[in-house]
Amino acid sequence: MSEDNLLDLALVRLDEAARHLAIDPDVIEKLKYPRETTKARLMIRMDDGSRKSFIAWRCRYDDTRGPTKGGIRYHPDASEEEAEALAFWMTFKCAVMNLPYGGGKGAVRVDPRSLSRSELERLSRAYIQAFARILGPDRDIPAPDVYTNSMIMGWMADEYAQIVGQAAPAVITGKPLALGGSVGRDDATARGGYYLTCHLAAEMGLGEQMRVAIQGFGNAGRHIARLLAADGHKIVAVSDSAGAVFAHDGLNVERLEAAKAAGRPVTSTVGLDGHQECPADELIATACDLLVPAALENMIHERNVSKVQARVVLELANGPVTPEADRILERNGVIVLPDILANAGGVTVSYFEWVQNRQGYYWELAEVHSRLRTIMEREGREIWRTAQEKKVPMRTAAYVHALRRLAAAIEAHGTQNFFSAE
Ligand code: NAD
Repeated sequence: MSEDNLLDLALVRLDEAARHLAIDPDVIEKLKYPRETTKARLMIRMDDGSRKSFIAWRCRYDDTRGPTKGGIRYHPDASEEEAEALAFWMTFKCAVMNLPYGGGKGAVRVDPRSLSRSELERLSRAYIQAFARILGPDRDIPAPDVYTNSMIMGWMADEYAQIVGQAAPAVITGKPLALGGSVGRDDATARGGYYLTCHLAAEMGLGEQMRVAIQGFGNAGRHIARLLAADGHKIVAVSDSAGAVFAHDGLNVERLEAAKAAGRPVTSTVGLDGHQECPADELIATACDLLVPAALENMIHERNVSKVQARVVLELANGPVTPEADRILERNGVIVLPDILANAGGVTVSYFEWVQNRQGYYWELAEVHSRLRTIMEREGREIWRTAQEKKVPMRTAAYVHALRRLAAAIEAHGTQNFFSAE
């Protein structure tokens, strides 16, 4: 997929959802343009004394439902188009979950692996210096994304506090626990997908003991494997960037986790506990009930989608199924639990972190889990109902569900004048 049309592709979802609702065309027009995208050149001192500059963006796509919320990505291919498309997705993801947020996204065009730790810290602080005037707990709240993590969020929160001259932990989520992070954030994305799948299992025709294949064994993939295995489901295949492993009677998830914790690929467990190697690109062809793409975008596409045997696809990754593949899965009767719902547990616990920071009162893990479960089940059930009523796939239903909320907020604000910064 060319990066030039990422936002156009995202907007296809908007048009599709609009067809199922009687909506003021002004609302759709407003949602077609980001409210503001700010660009900066970050010039930092390198360890050898030289200076290097990096292009950075922050997009606040829509703030009708609340402050904009979305991660900051460090990537050599980052672009303004991509930041805007991802900010559009965040707008819908927050609306799907009824979080009081709009959508935003940030990016720096950099290969973070080429920087030392101190260069990475200077770059992260420079990002906040450049964008501090548009950030804030009531304006725009970043979080981690690809190649950024809690350590970076900690530096960023610290830089922001220095600029405004007071502690402001609610300006950023995904912080280390020591700086006001929330318990339960580490496995929130997988846990949200797990609660959703369990809640709708009977309706989707999933049995008591599922066979599960998981593509990607990082944060999202590892945690969902653990949660499902603990319930007695069989994790029959998993993969990472180095390869895939399969076991007809179920893989030993603890063994896999130990291998990853020691920095080894999942294939290092081949030969142990009945684990067999299988070609990585065959993972999606595994005979299973539930397929969980938890690696990268566009992994299931027109050329490999016909191999999918699963009854249900749980999109823990963002955008793992291309629009063409999506149509084929629908034709084949495969249920896709779409990313803006399936992986929204992460942003939901980020919201809990923001609430706790503002309250100055921190919850127990059981409270985080119980609140997450309530929201995933409530929104999942509503979207399921919409899908049945309108006879549309879950993805369209999720966009319809979000668009209803966005339209209500936009209309309540008044639709006389809109602007988007050019
Ligand atoms: P991660 O970097 O921890 O894990 C990614 C995993 O994918 C790694 O195991 C990697 O080896 C594997 N991988 C890479 N290329 C692969 C390939 N070709 N085939 C098979 N596996 C491959 O990342 P993560 O945080 O787990 O995120 C995974 C996906 O979930 C991304 O799309 C991300 O945007 C999405 N997501 C994550 C979160 C979160 O809270 N972590 C929240 C929302 C969405």
